[in-house]
Amino acid sequence: MNNILVQKYGGTSVGSCEKIKRIAENIATCKKNGSRIVVVVSAMGDTTNQLTNKAFQISAQPPSRELDMLLATGEQVSISLLAMAIKSLGEDVISLTGGQCGIITDDNHKKAKITQINTDRIISELDKDKIVIVAGFQGINNSNDITTLGRGGSDTTAVALAASLKSKICEIYTDVDGVYTTDPRKVKSASLIKTISYDEMLELASLGSTVLHPRSVELARKYNVPVSVKSSYTMNKGTLVTEVKNMEKIVVRGLALDQEISKISILEVPDKPGIAYKLFAELSSKNITVDTIIQNVNRNAINDISFTVNSTDLEESIRICENIVTDIGAKNVIYDNNVSKLSVVGAGITSSSEVASLFFKSLYELGINIQMISSSQIKISCIIETEHALKALTYLHDMFHLNKLNE
Ligand code: ADP
Ligand code: ASP
Ligand code: MG
Repeated sequence: MNNILVQKYGGTSVGSCEKIKRIAENIATCKKNGSRIVVVVSAMGDTTNQLTNKAFQISAQPPSRELDMLLATGEQVSISLLAMAIKSLGEDVISLTGGQCGIITDDNHKKAKITQINTDRIISELDKDKIVIVAGFQGINNSNDITTLGRGGSDTTAVALAASLKSKICEIYTDVDGVYTTDPRKVKSASLIKTISYDEMLELASLGSTVLHPRSVELARKYNVPVSVKSSYTMNKGTLVTEVKNMEKIVVRGLALDQEISKISILEVPDKPGIAYKLFAELSSKNITVDTIIQNVNRNAINDISFTVNSTDLEESIRICENIVTDIGAKNVIYDNNVSKLSVVGAGITSSSEVASLFFKSLYELGINIQMISSSQIKISCIIETEHALKALTYLHDMFHLNKLNE
């Protein structure tokens, strides 16, 4: 069973019939080299966006269950086409939806979490010497309804399968050569990182480096699955995401920019126990993830509380906050969706103040105001105006000498 290899091909890699035929050849070659192959694919090119747009043309608030039903069709197109392409190369193959291959999730439509994988069907098809093609990004809940795992979720399908099937490695094929010091489409001088630790990759992914879905990295770390990120066009080695020891040296590994966030402020909140609890418990009960939180102490036991959310959760968060404002005796709610989060990531960077000081100095030199700051053991993030974000990213990349090749 240990010669199972899980590969994942992203949307651009299966973006046309020509590309599907090309990756079919790659897959058939891996099979001939002796691996038992499970392939996870995304929807073709821009399909998921197009389907989402259609839903919003029909309804301003499409029901989550129906949205998942719709979005999951994208992956179903690519699994069947890829299976046809592989079959025509003479290899035996079968395509399976998330539900058919036993991917069970919770009920949380649009951002469901995998709770269990029953691999029996996959194993039985592999035992028949077939290549198994799995639809990424989807599963079924306990009521047999189709769920999706959140945008970019096919990476998570792949790593979850690799963990369940005990694949030696999970190969993620994408449209860039691997993980770079920052998004190579935003900063031309970004350099390829050959090896990166799970912790650092998890921070980069969570802070806006869309190259890997954050939950895929969480799973890879939990089950110790090495992940190889590489291009589906070149034969380059790419980046290995794995357990990296020797974290003593402070290294700035990369920069991330998240432009999909919004800032919400609740003004004139009474300064007494239980207020923050009430607010954040309500947001959390609706599965809204809250990031950078700041409480300013004003005068006369009155505070302002500000925090950031993903822009897709902005409307719902505002509704929740507005409902709670009178309850907690605050004045009102304001928001700003013209903000971005710029982050520096690297093991141990907050154990010395040098990185923070260079980060803040760079923003000062550019005349950029920092609206919020947050940090953990391995990252420092600043919330700044979106208008300045790209300029700041490029400048910081230079200041931290990230264009010199990393190891
Ligand atoms: P796929 O469809 O293959 O899943 P994605 O678009 O989800 O591809 O992810 C690949 C993209 O991630 C790249 O095209 C690149 O623009 C972006 N990206 C963001 N940050 C990074 C980074 N640090 N390294 C590499 N790519 C990055
Ligand atoms: N097709 C889904 C998306 O575009 C899932 C994925 O590509 O990983 O988000
Ligand atoms: Mg992706």
